Order: sequence, then C-alpha cells, then structure tokens
Amino acid sequence: MNEYDSNRIFDTVKKIGFNKTDNIDEANCYLLNTCHIRDKAKEKVYHEIGRVKQTFGFKNKPLVIVAGCVAQAENEQMLKREPYIDIVIGPQSYHRINSKIEEFLEKQKKIDETEFDADLKFDYLSKLKNSSGKVSSFLTIQEGCDKFCHFCVVPYTRGPEYSRSFNEIVEEAKILAKNGVKEITLLGQNVNAYNYKNHKLSDLILEIEKINEIKRIRYTTSHPRDMTDDLINVYGISKKLMPLVHLPIQSGSNKILKLMNRNHSIEDYLNIYEKLKKINPFIQFSSDFIIAYPGEEEDDFNHTIELIKKLKFINSFSFVFSPRPGTVASKLKTIEKKVSFKRLQIIQKELFDHQINMNKSLENKIIDVLVENKNKKDNKFFGRTEYMTSAIFDANKDDVGKIISVKIISSNQNTLFGKKVEKSRLKVA
Ligand code: SF4
Repeated sequence: MNEYDSNRIFDTVKKIGFNKTDNIDEANCYLLNTCHIRDKAKEKVYHEIGRVKQTFGFKNKPLVIVAGCVAQAENEQMLKREPYIDIVIGPQSYHRINSKIEEFLEKQKKIDETEFDADLKFDYLSKLKNSSGKVSSFLTIQEGCDKFCHFCVVPYTRGPEYSRSFNEIVEEAKILAKNGVKEITLLGQNVNAYNYKNHKLSDLILEIEKINEIKRIRYTTSHPRDMTDDLINVYGISKKLMPLVHLPIQSGSNKILKLMNRNHSIEDYLNIYEKLKKINPFIQFSSDFIIAYPGEEEDDFNHTIELIKKLKFINSFSFVFSPRPGTVASKLKTIEKKVSFKRLQIIQKELFDHQINMNKSLENKIIDVLVENKNKKDNKFFGRTEYMTSAIFDANKDDVGKIISVKIISSNQNTLFGKKVEKSRLKVA
C-alpha cells in the first residue's frame, strides 16, 4: 500500500512543481513514506533522517517530510525528537500535502497533520489522474481495520475500516488501463472486507474484469473472516482473477489464534481451503506466519508445521513475533530468542523446501508469464507467473505488457529462468 500511496503523493506534489529525482544530493524536498509493520520501524526512520542530515547539513537543508504510518503513530513526538523534520503527515491526510508544504514554506512553522480523514482523501484522489504506467499496478480500494489483532498496529495507524466508492475505483482502473496497465492488484488492509453500499469485492472483480486491457486481477491482504461465499464463488466465474489466494493464517494452533484475537479458527480456514479447491483444484494458497507468539508452546508450533505440510503454501511470509508499541501483545512476555529463531528456521525450511520443489517441477514446462519490464543489467526480461513467482527469461521488447509462453529451463527458490516460445500452431488435415 505504501508503494501505491507514494505514487499518489508524487502525483499530488507534481501539481506544485516538484519532480522526482533518484539523486538525493539535488533534492529540495526529502519525503520519507514510512511503514510501521516492520521491526524497529521508528528507529529506522530516525536513522534515515540522520543520514539525510549528514548529507545536507543545516546550510543546504531540504524540506523534510515524514509520511505514512510511523508519522501517524509518532505524530508531534517526531517533530520534538528530530528537529530536522519539518512536516509529519499521516496516511489518511496526504491529500493535503500541497497546502501543508506551502504553509510551511510561508510560515516556517513545523506541521503535524495526522487526522483520520479517509473520505476527503479518496474524494481528492478520485479527481487526481493516476499516472502509474507500469504493466502491473496497485489500486487501493479499502483502508483501515476494525479487527484489532493483538499484535498489529494497523487499526491505530490507518484507522477504522473504510471502503472507497465503487464507481471511483472502476474509473481509476479504466485510467490505469489507458496508461498501459495490464494487471491490477486491489489493495486494502482488509481488502475482502470491502463493502460500499452493498457492493462487495466480488462485484468489483467482475466489474474490473470487463475492462478489455486488464488481463489479470489480484487482491491483497485478506482476512479469513471476510472470505465470504460470493468471493469464493468468483473463482469459478472470473476469467481474470489469478488462482493464488494470499490468506494470512498466522498460526496453526487454535489456542494461539485466540490469544492473537484473530477471530477465526483453523477449521474455518480449512473450510475456505476446501471450498476453493473444489471450485478450482489448481488454486494455490500463500500465507503469513508469526512464529513464537507469546504463549506459543512446542505443541502449538507443531500444529503450525502440520498445517504447512498439509496445505503446502507457496510464496509465504514468516517472521518471529516482535512487539509493536501500543498493541496488546507488546505487554506480553516474549519467548526466548534462541527458541524463537530455531522455530523460525524449521518453519522456513518447510516453506522454502516446498517452494523449491514446486519451482523445480516447472522445469521443462511451458507456462504463461506477464512480461513486466526489461532488466537494466542484462538483456533479459522480467515477469510473473499466475502464482506471482518471478520469472527471468529471453524475450523481445514488444512482449512487454503481454502474456507470453515461457519455457522454464532452471529455477531456484524465488525465481524461474527460461525463454519465450511461440505457442505451437495446431494443424488439421
Ligand atoms: S486483520 Fe490484519 S490489519 Fe487488521 S488488526 Fe489483524 S493483522 Fe492487523
């Protein structure tokens, strides 16, 4: 979501004359869009600002803005702790960034802009042309969360669940399509909780599917509780919805799910899995796992391993629990580091081994890849399979933006390597 937000912030500041530069030394304005999900997010922000301070000093100081979830969580504290920062602006307020920049330049007074104002933000964004011209683009449809999992900061930094207007989203998808986008990933912290005047995520997928230029649709991140039958059934109807379901489960133990306040059980998850596999046996699942959550015993951990062995997740994410300030879990006793990392190693070996085997099984096979771009370093091209696996292959410049057939020659854990092949022509006599 931060990638989407960063692009929209750029679309906004362009209106008051700022252009993007890759050369930090020539920047008049340094904007850091932050994420609070990662470990030590706050400290990383101060460290980064320290680096900017060293580069520019005070004589040539650029305008320094911190945006995103860390700005939201820290707000005015940030301005007090690091006077080099001029403006902090939360993820629901960045539609006001131009007026805040102008206000600062005029008054030279620090600004804390961290109100939750999703309605106004999306009103503004709907009138602002999305300039993303990539083959694969994000499109935010929902923000915030009401679920309050005990380990997560999102409800505090992104505010309550909010769904954007159905028509505005479809309009933005059409603009993206006109700009050359072929794949859209619908985004939300609880994307499948999307509900705008009874239009649900399933309706949105079927509507966006009508746009000819759009060839692939994905969505992330979803919650098992909102995996309703209408969404499950779309997998049987849609021609463009990709067969990879990213559905975080976090743990294979009901006891831990309860301690996390996840509000779903392993049985609920398995039920969703069975229903989807019945609709399309080629659907694969990917997931997120928090290892060594406070209270996780050997038995709970073994349940997670069993679940991974059973469902054979691909492209998944796993981390050792790390407390986030302000959350319920931040007050709980953590598990010894040595034990936590040992468990993480075991989980990752299981996940990675499966990924390696799956990639190996594709060698010598021909698969569909959406070509995203040409690599800068070599003459190879980059794209993704239907299951989001990265592929690097030989192709032609004209193939960018097209779904082509690629013969896989070799693979490693994260990437498939191959070359474009022409689909053999069927002959009839
Ligand atoms: S549902 Fe997702 S975003 Fe909401 S609190 Fe839980 S982990 Fe965080």
